[in-house]
Amino acid sequence: MGWRVQVVGGGVIGLACAWELSRNGHEVTVVAPAPGRDGASWVAAGMLAPVTEAHFGESALTALLVEGAGHWPAFAAALEAASGLAIGYDTAGTVTVALDASDRASLDDLLAYQHSLGLEASRRSASECRRLVPALSPALRGGLEVPGDHQVDNRALLGALRQACGEGGVTFVEGRVTAVENGPALVLDDGRRSASDRIVLAAGTGLPSIDGLAAAGLPPLRPVKGHILRLGPPDATSPVPLLARTVRGLVHGRSVYLVPRPDGSVVVGATVEERGTDTAVRAGAVYELLCDARTIVPAVDELELLEAATGLRPATPDNTPRIGWTALDGVLAAVGHYRNGILLAPLTAAAVAALVGRRPVAPLIASLAPA
Ligand SMILES: Cc1cc2nc3c(=O)[nH]c(=O)nc-3n(C[C@H](O)[C@H](O)[C@H](O)COP(=O)(O)OP(=O)(O)OC[C@H]3O[C@@H](n4cnc5c(N)ncnc54)[C@H](O)[C@@H]3O)c2cc1C
Repeated sequence: MGWRVQVVGGGVIGLACAWELSRNGHEVTVVAPAPGRDGASWVAAGMLAPVTEAHFGESALTALLVEGAGHWPAFAAALEAASGLAIGYDTAGTVTVALDASDRASLDDLLAYQHSLGLEASRRSASECRRLVPALSPALRGGLEVPGDHQVDNRALLGALRQACGEGGVTFVEGRVTAVENGPALVLDDGRRSASDRIVLAAGTGLPSIDGLAAAGLPPLRPVKGHILRLGPPDATSPVPLLARTVRGLVHGRSVYLVPRPDGSVVVGATVEERGTDTAVRAGAVYELLCDARTIVPAVDELELLEAATGLRPATPDNTPRIGWTALDGVLAAVGHYRNGILLAPLTAAAVAALVGRRPVAPLIASLAPA
């Protein structure tokens, strides 16, 4: 039986859930101020990186990321078919490089950790890295080849999700939710109240500003700021893109990445800053990202600076998302995806659709339940 479901939030999580729920026969409404055009999802780099995002001490999260990556091939194919739009899903793989001896040692430690988790990554010399990515600086100390870390054009993804939602009969209400009430029901900033059978909370860092959730059993969410740049090709008609795969790097201990897009542009990111809800673009952060990017790929100097932006990653205290029923009747959460919301969107949407449809979920997913 189809339920009336309201989804709060129009980022990648809200839209992916809405599309999946509509595919499962539910009557879905998305409530958000600018669905598919804002939030962390709009500024993100779009890496689908379970291996290079594996951090020491977060093995359970890494297992979730690996599971999430497994959803992507079928999800990308189904979304492109449903929307008729390309999303730049690219499986060329990733190379991570080191600048100095200490960076090389850090990558070697990371490689040992990745192998201890059964992840696929291989040590490569500097010349092997340059064979994989000819645009790399000759001054590097080698790196790692990671074939399983992929990418998608996150803005194309959001456009395709919006289109597929429209095709699937999802209704969009442009507005901000101020409260969740028993019913369950939403109260909007213009005073409207709308009830439904189920509510899915997917408001990213906007969640704490919604009233009525104190008893939901959700952990506190903190915003983690990220600066990110978009650079354009020197010659839009150039047949040879600067990069054919994602490059990540350690530059004197600082992380940077360069993610190529099908149109020849490159996304350079990203800082990780605990500064509350501040979203100002700071000169120092832009300078640092550009310095580190050109140290790894010198031809970055010739690219046009198209955009400098910031986004707020929604993070829980353990950096792990909460997906599942809250303690409020009929209210589900899909929040706290921190650095990996693009990667985890298909998995999250499938989990939410299963829970709404009263189907069982795997223990890995059940462990993410907030309540
Ligand atoms: C610089 C940067 C780079 C990143 N790179 C990657 C990457 O390469 N790969 C990856 O997987 N992840 C990446 N991330 C993380 C990823 O962007 C997030 O995890 C993901 O976008 C979270 O999606 P979301 O839908 O939960 O939140 P958001 O995208 O922030 O969306 C929240 C939505 O809720 C809406 N909203 C908020 N409050 C309300 C309200 N009261 N009522 C109604 N609607 C509301 C907003 O308007 C918005 O539409 C990056 C993030 C940043 C900042």
